[in-house]
Amino acid sequence: MSFFKNVYNYIHSLSRGEEVLSDRRKFTYIFSSFAFIHLFSVVIFSILKNPLFVTFNVLAIFLYLGLISLAKKKHYLMVSMIAEIEVLVSVSLISFTYGTIIGYSFYLFAMIPTIFYITSTVKEMKHPTVYCLVFSFITLLCFFTILVSEPFFSISETLTNRPILTLVVRLFNAGMTFFFCIAFSLLFVWEMKSNTSQLQRRNQQLVEVSRKDPLTKLANRRSMMEKLNLSMHYLKTENHPFSVILCDIDHFKKVNDVYGHDCGDKVLVTVADSISSQLRDTDFVCRWGGEEILIVIDGRLQTATAIAERMRSNIENTTVMHEGQRVNVTMTFGVAQAETTYRIEDLIQLADTRLYYGKEHGRNQVVNQDMKD
Ligand code: GH3
Ligand code: MG
Ligand code: MG
Repeated sequence: MSFFKNVYNYIHSLSRGEEVLSDRRKFTYIFSSFAFIHLFSVVIFSILKNPLFVTFNVLAIFLYLGLISLAKKKHYLMVSMIAEIEVLVSVSLISFTYGTIIGYSFYLFAMIPTIFYITSTVKEMKHPTVYCLVFSFITLLCFFTILVSEPFFSISETLTNRPILTLVVRLFNAGMTFFFCIAFSLLFVWEMKSNTSQLQRRNQQLVEVSRKDPLTKLANRRSMMEKLNLSMHYLKTENHPFSVILCDIDHFKKVNDVYGHDCGDKVLVTVADSISSQLRDTDFVCRWGGEEILIVIDGRLQTATAIAERMRSNIENTTVMHEGQRVNVTMTFGVAQAETTYRIEDLIQLADTRLYYGKEHGRNQVVNQDMKD
């Protein structure tokens, strides 16, 4: 029961594009199906008492078992060419002997989707289109030769007195041909699905990389500019107020000098986490520069000041442990509310001036107005 469940789950994940057939598996499945057809043929030609074809089909089974192991060593081009030649030879031999009535010539149709699937999905194959077209042309030639020459060959007597057996073989071959055509078309679609979802995942990762600072995982300057432009737009069109907080770690250079750059990084990440934890969904935070963080607050100056004060106090009370040592830092904050007449640069400049004032007047404080001295 669990075997069928596993098979069902596997096919389900293939169909959703979550899983891809590995190249090795592709060849194993295809060559196993070919070997199965030859096994069926061994039975049929035993009944038809044709020892030559029985031997031929037994050898073909061993050939495919060998090709499966060769495919495991990634000799994909060689194994597919051998398999193609084998199919063309056996289909021609059987059709010339028993005629197309027995249905082996159907397999030539199934060869087309098989070869297109194999060549376009196996990455190592070079010039897949040329290879597919040449092979399709050879297959067509082979089919035409069988059709044209059929009236000139004497069809084996054994078939005329075994109509039921002929029908069974014909139906089996037609069924297998349909199976191949449907299976390879499905695999093609599933593989395309999987490629598309892989591309979407990679695109998503790229978007994240392009919008985030790799160390702190905060947004970067580029996404902050988008947020600022949007906030400015709502301020101008809907009079929706917003403020910015620009903050900077105090004496950060000393942290690096005394405890090392790794410790500095750890402090930056801790500070970034601490600040993010104070924000609401409508606020936005980014790493503006080296150890400067810029925050957009959805609200007026008083709200932003209160939030900045909470952040300052939190950071002051946070200890970073580095190699058994306790490292404490503080931050200085400049807060400014946006006005409709401001450009974004003016607003940030205002916050920066206030931050600078705080740095000049003792650090570890929040400055939210222009001070004169
Ligand atoms: P102030 O209180 O005036 O801001 O002094 P400060 O030492 O913090 O300022 P300064 O501008 O002199 O030094 C900032 C330091 O931040 C220098 C730089 O090496 C360090 N820094 C910038 N980015 C990173 C980073 O990603 N990791 C680490 N570890 N250090 C960084
Ligand atoms: Mg600093
Ligand atoms: Mg700085």
